[in-house]
Amino acid sequence: MISDPDVLGLLYLVSIVCFVLALRFLSSPKHARRGNWLGGVGMLIAIGTTLLVEGISNWALIVVAAAIGSVVGLVGARKVKMTAMPQMVALFNGVGGGAAALIALAEFHEHGGVLTWDEGLSIALSALIGSISFSGSLVAFAKLQELVSGRPIVFPGQNIVNILVLGVAAALGIAIVAGVEGQWAIVTLIALALLFGVMFVLPIGGADMPVVISLLNAFTGLAASATGFVLDSTVLIVAGMLVGASGTLLTLLMAKAMNRSIANVLFGAFGAAPAGGAAAAASTDGKSYREVTADDTAVMLAYAQRVVVVPGYGLAVAQAQHAVRELAGLLEARGVDVKYAIHPVAGRMPGHMNVLLAEAQVPYPQLYDMDDINPEFPRTDVALVIGANDVTNPAARDNPESPLYGMPILNVDQAANVVILKRSMSPGFAGIDNDLFYGANSAMLFGDAKSSVEKLVAAVKAA
Ligand code: NAP
Repeated sequence: MISDPDVLGLLYLVSIVCFVLALRFLSSPKHARRGNWLGGVGMLIAIGTTLLVEGISNWALIVVAAAIGSVVGLVGARKVKMTAMPQMVALFNGVGGGAAALIALAEFHEHGGVLTWDEGLSIALSALIGSISFSGSLVAFAKLQELVSGRPIVFPGQNIVNILVLGVAAALGIAIVAGVEGQWAIVTLIALALLFGVMFVLPIGGADMPVVISLLNAFTGLAASATGFVLDSTVLIVAGMLVGASGTLLTLLMAKAMNRSIANVLFGAFGAAPAGGAAAAASTDGKSYREVTADDTAVMLAYAQRVVVVPGYGLAVAQAQHAVRELAGLLEARGVDVKYAIHPVAGRMPGHMNVLLAEAQVPYPQLYDMDDINPEFPRTDVALVIGANDVTNPAARDNPESPLYGMPILNVDQAANVVILKRSMSPGFAGIDNDLFYGANSAMLFGDAKSSVEKLVAAVKAA
């Protein structure tokens, strides 16, 4: 048991340093694994230290809860498919918010509602933000898992109802700070905050969920931080703030990379138009496009000098990363220079393409960020677009009328030849037809990305 506050402080300081370094390492795919490990070690030290503090009782409950949590976390993390990662993050994030709200409820009960103003403030904030994060994350999970419709669910007067619900919850929080002692106050506050979390996320389209999850993640961090004040735990305050700050930055970066404001993501009901997602019908409007076979593409690739692979969401769906790696290896063996162009919001979560390609052992130096690869396209022989769509749409650069206008894109249309691997002419996430498909230097190779790339592998071997 640890009774010396200096030893306790030192151990917590070590875990805080681990968290800060973990974030630092996580900011580059090169060191991300190390970052993950360090974060885990920091958490282990923080939990271990907390359990060793004198006065901890209820060991049976703690052990049972920790065992259940560990099994769920371990099995969940090992079984989850890469494409289902956003909803797993939503779920894990949500339970963090829920835990903060439950601690607030328990502390309010423990004090019999008799609180100083600062205790009241911390408890009210934990309960409010934690509950919003919990129920909002569950709705985000349900949307991504397609348990509820991914379409924005809207009804007249929604914003007014939302403001009313949040207003009453906030008023109850102020009442708690002012000294209201009845349990009904915190219970009603939590119920209203849970309702607000649901109502806040329902009108947001499924495809915007990664941004919402990142925002809710920031909320959970703030709730955890407020809980740190409730429990007088420095490590929780700092860790919560780190989550809050990194979640906020990630939300802003994702919105910027999509050229959308946070307000547009949250209140714009993006995707409500019928043309959302891959299910939408192709609208070629009489424009013509060219189809190409795997054999012809293989010849083009085999005799090229420079090839840039542009992966997108379809690569993740098809799980084509290993086949792509094999194709690149064959081309390199023939002396072709192969690079990968990574758009910051390709796929459905930040770093999606990096993770997939790393899983297939693609050497990290071959991955180029958008700003680094764009000057390369004019001297590229073949740009191989695999399941990417919106992030290559030239309308985002050239057409002020396009809803995508202003979103930074990969300038694949500037390559000598562009081959696009996808199953149909359907639009991508934004539901907008892609001008790239109709370019004079573009050709479509239809089919599931994995089977198309496997055909290319076979054809390059035979070339
Ligand atoms: P995208 O625009 O959604 O297009 C993906 C394409 O993949 C679709 O056009 C689809 O066409 C094709 N596809 C799907 N399954 C396939 C399969 N099995 N084989 C071959 N092709 C397949 O994807 P993106 O270019 O990666 O752009 C990402 C979009 O998501 C952007 O609009 C971005 O703003 C948004 N977003 C990203 C994030 C993030 O953090 N990464 C977060 C929120 C939103 P077919 O159906 O014809 O095959």
